[in-house]
Amino acid sequence: MMDLQWVRENSEEVQKVAKLKGLDFEVEELLEADAERRKLLGQVEELRRHRNMLAEGIATAMREGRALDAKSLKDTGRLTGKQLGELEPRLAQLEANLQRLLLAAPNVISPDTPMGSSDAHNVEVGRWGEPQEFSFTPLDHIELGERHDLVDLARGAKTAGSRSYYLKGAGVLLHRAVQQLAVDRLLATGFTLLEVPVMARVSAFQQTGFFPAGEDQVYALESEDLRLTGTSEVALVNYYSGEVLELTEPIRLAAASACFRSEAGSAGRDTRGLYRVHQFAKVEQVVICKAELETAELMLQEITRHATELLQLLELPYRIMGVCVGDMSAKTYKQFDLETWMPGRGAYGETHSSSLLLDYQARRAGIRYRDEDGNLRFAYTLNNTAVASPRILIPLLENHQQEDGSILIPEALRPYMNGVERLVAK
Ligand code: AMP
Repeated sequence: MMDLQWVRENSEEVQKVAKLKGLDFEVEELLEADAERRKLLGQVEELRRHRNMLAEGIATAMREGRALDAKSLKDTGRLTGKQLGELEPRLAQLEANLQRLLLAAPNVISPDTPMGSSDAHNVEVGRWGEPQEFSFTPLDHIELGERHDLVDLARGAKTAGSRSYYLKGAGVLLHRAVQQLAVDRLLATGFTLLEVPVMARVSAFQQTGFFPAGEDQVYALESEDLRLTGTSEVALVNYYSGEVLELTEPIRLAAASACFRSEAGSAGRDTRGLYRVHQFAKVEQVVICKAELETAELMLQEITRHATELLQLLELPYRIMGVCVGDMSAKTYKQFDLETWMPGRGAYGETHSSSLLLDYQARRAGIRYRDEDGNLRFAYTLNNTAVASPRILIPLLENHQQEDGSILIPEALRPYMNGVERLVAK
């Protein structure tokens, strides 16, 4: 959420960013709601002051035995009370409306965010490895998954509909291996691992900036105030909501969790295989640090590096993309995506997303710390994928397939695969 005072003073900037992010948001509506609320608040406060004065006057008149004065003051007090009774609910409505509009206001963007309206305008800022030339016709992950009996899409659809799957045998081991490798590496760099709720209250989604913008992406549980989370970021950031933290060092949190996404609006996109599914597993990194841009930029580099190091261990070619403003969500200030080479698509596909949100989430969630002068300030938050599976299985299977049909397991994964060095189809 944006600071209301800041929005008032920078309304043009807010409107510009909303437009660049493709959001249906009118700052003018917010400013009008704010002005209306402030006007009514002034009247209500005046009436409250008046009522308090009357109450004091009544008490004094009673003490001094001036019964007639007390009665007349009480009559005026009743009138004031009646007026307040009419205005206070209206004020509550205006406050709720203002809050709704403020929750929809977008975060600003970093000066180096590329301009553009979609991922086609994202800018490559680095790469590692090169897509290999196969000396044979490579198979895609669907065919590899079937031949090696690792993935069952047909039975997934039978049980749970489109964008569903079963993993099987070594497919499950691979899925768990990449997650455990990611978790172990994060633990080694000082992250605290949490097992988190994957069902969270609507307020937790609001506090972390996933609502109202992304409500259609989320599954609701009938007659509950709970929703299935699409990422453990909701639970990790919300862990400290409403708290004042000790932030001498950035707080580094990680979780491995199931993620659920309706993928509303993705009809017809990536319908084949494991790329875009309704349920997947993700190891997530969340960092909470002081509201210092320099520290936050370093943390963004750190969490991005954790992902690139993992991809290198998995021996997968990738590129780093500076995400353009039109491909960013309302809450993001700066974002890098990692795209990993997927031979079956003949293209790089997004496997990781690394974001800095400044105090956008912390302001909503009430996560604060005391700065050197003892003043309470909202913290900055960041997040990045450490690994998401089964999407990562696509490049893993496809890049490491061999001419004899086997699939080589990268060395870093072997300890998590009972030492298996290669998958051989039966
Ligand atoms: P996000 O939390 O949207 O930034 O996504 C982080 C990562 O999760 C992506 O880069 C993908 O690797 C993975 N992911 C997101 N949505 C899906 C999906 N519907 N199916 C499979 N993987 C996904």
